[in-house]
Amino acid sequence: MGTKMQRSVLVATSNAGKLRDLAGAAVPYGITIASIPNFSSLPQVIEDGNTFEENARKKTEAYSLAVPGALVLADDSGLEIDALGGAPGVHSARYAADDPHAAECNTEDEANNARVLRELASVAAEKRTARFVCVLAVARDGQTLRTFRGTAEGILLDAPRGQNGFGYDPLFYFPQIGKTFAELSAEEKALYSHRGAAFRTFLEWCRANYP
Ligand code: IMP
Repeated sequence: MGTKMQRSVLVATSNAGKLRDLAGAAVPYGITIASIPNFSSLPQVIEDGNTFEENARKKTEAYSLAVPGALVLADDSGLEIDALGGAPGVHSARYAADDPHAAECNTEDEANNARVLRELASVAAEKRTARFVCVLAVARDGQTLRTFRGTAEGILLDAPRGQNGFGYDPLFYFPQIGKTFAELSAEEKALYSHRGAAFRTFLEWCRANYP
């Protein structure tokens, strides 16, 4: 099974920060991570699925057709708040939009956080449980081979705390180490985050399947 080519993985992203984090985590596994060549010139895949799995699969299946034979990885992630029935979920990136179901219009982090705080205003601390979820899907030639899910369990504060990170990080208190995600260093975030957890499962799968 194992050829050199399969120990390199192309990621469907043009986000340099995301790529750098993934590449760093993959080094101990001897796996090379790069972005799909000319990713930003490929037609954009619309993330209109009802689940993280659906969106991640949709992306990786479409983008893998642009790089025949390569292993391609795509992710979808978001925040599930129990008191809001799992919202914002797959709509996390555009929760402040008039219509968060319209899949093309991401909204500012601050506006998304403000909406969450508004909706949780009357919810007691012990009921403000939430989790970040990340699903990675790996495909080759238009077919998903597997998906990997990682989660991080936390509690939503009633005011932001911390300067690092992005998205809902300043509101997401992580009891395991007593900090919000916006108070974590990049190394801590990789260790504790939903994305880090999903990616490690993927790396173990690579090691087992492409030794
Ligand atoms: P995606 O880029 O389609 O996966 O959308 C992810 C959205 O979920 C982001 O725009 C954030 O709002 C939220 N999100 C996902 N992961 C994180 C995280 O690690 N910290 C904070 N917000 C996150």
